[in-house]
Amino acid sequence: MSDTCLLCGGAQELVVGVRERGPHPQLHDYTRVLFCPACDVGELRAFSFDGFVAWDEEDPVMVWSAALSTADVSLLRTAFACPNPLDHRCGCAQHERAYSTSVGTTKTLLSEYGPRRHSPDGRSTATVRVAGGLAEFRSAAL
Ligand SMILES: [Zn+2]
Ligand SMILES: [Zn+2]
Repeated sequence: MSDTCLLCGGAQELVVGVRERGPHPQLHDYTRVLFCPACDVGELRAFSFDGFVAWDEEDPVMVWSAALSTADVSLLRTAFACPNPLDHRCGCAQHERAYSTSVGTTKTLLSEYGPRRHSPDGRSTATVRVAGGLAEFRSAAL
């Protein structure tokens, strides 16, 4: 498990901790906005580890990602209407809006294992917009 950049493999900055459960021994999932200063590109990432998945039935680790432009990350930094953007336990209206809209935003499922692991090929793109004073995520128009 890592939040490294899909393009360069380098460390990414955590911009917003949208929501997180765990880590527990059998469960850990989170939604985060990450930014790679080296590649100058952001990412909306949803990670899920489910230790209760039956053996061989399904990959217990799943990672979904959508690319975010630098402009959208900058907009998110300024428009995120919560003083604690990294506090994934925060239940304020801004954190709730970010989470609820992130769920409906198209993301690409990455394979956590195998040769295509962490490949950005064919990745979806998300955008940020402000509605009613709160920042939210959208799937980018094709
Ligand atoms: Zn990078
Ligand atoms: Zn908040």
